[in-house]
Amino acid sequence: MKYNKICPKCRSIDIIEVPGSAGAYGTGNNIQVGWSNFSAVLVHRYVCASCGYSEEWINKDELQKLKKKYKQ
Ligand SMILES: [Zn+2]
Repeated sequence: MKYNKICPKCRSIDIIEVPGSAGAYGTGNNIQVGWSNFSAVLVHRYVCASCGYSEEWINKDELQKLKKKYKQ
């Protein structure tokens, strides 16, 4: 869905990209990995405007931050 912009459920090509954000107090679509907004990992969403199916993606270069914090 992220790459071909086609909904895997209903095959619609009407896909909305919702960029992740990090606002004050952890608002927005993100995962906190530290105490400041600078350490938030943004979560980007792809939503099908036809059936409502959604996928969430995190940029590859931010995966290391998550790994460091959550992977034992
Ligand atoms: Zn769909």
